[in-house]
Amino acid sequence: MDTDTALAWVRAIAEAVTEHTDQLTQLDAAIGDADHGTNMHRGFSAVVATLDGSRFTTVGEVLTKTGTTLVSTVGGASGPLYGSAFRAAGKQLTDPVVTAEQLLEGLTAGLEAVQRLGAAQPGDKTMIDAYRPALDAFDKALRNGGDLVAAALAATDSAEEGMRATIPMIARKGRASYLGPRSQGHQDPGATSTVLIFHALAEVVSG
Ligand code: ADP
Ligand code: MG
Repeated sequence: MDTDTALAWVRAIAEAVTEHTDQLTQLDAAIGDADHGTNMHRGFSAVVATLDGSRFTTVGEVLTKTGTTLVSTVGGASGPLYGSAFRAAGKQLTDPVVTAEQLLEGLTAGLEAVQRLGAAQPGDKTMIDAYRPALDAFDKALRNGGDLVAAALAATDSAEEGMRATIPMIARKGRASYLGPRSQGHQDPGATSTVLIFHALAEVVSG
């Protein structure tokens, strides 16, 4: 992945978020406060505006700028969580062009940052439930000799599976946890936006 691909990835996420703003908000209306779509839209619109006016020489700079902008523009829990993930990934990726293995290391640092900040475990009905299986599949694809395209496609499939698996879960973190067992039967909004992020990656790297 080079700097231009990283920029295209973030722009593709912004487009997907724009397209799915209502869906994300409706999911959050069921078990939260109906702002996940608008939070993500506000954040990624600000990211695109910031990227348009900047120059980047490494993948890491693009991702770090994305993270910093999300933290400063999104009020909800998802802003600091995704913001920290992009910043942590960016910090790792200091080369102008990064390999699929390096990207996996960056994404793994991102997941660790989310878990450090939000203290959610798998099964708590959060973005982690899509993010973690996505990275497991990414890793497995690379180990089986796959390239970045294969890894990103596998990660997207597993993120989707993880997203659907949040439906029967009882939320133990974030606003949805206030509902206790009444959070059951609803898909987690954050797990859904995580799928958009991996889907955008797969789309961009497969050209
Ligand atoms: P808020 O909950 O502050 O309104 P959003 O609606 O933008 O923020 O985001 C909600 C999403 O954030 C949830 O669907 C969940 O996936 C994610 N989330 C909330 N708390 C945590 C946490 N502690 N760890 C990981 N993800 C979390
Ligand atoms: Mg919300």
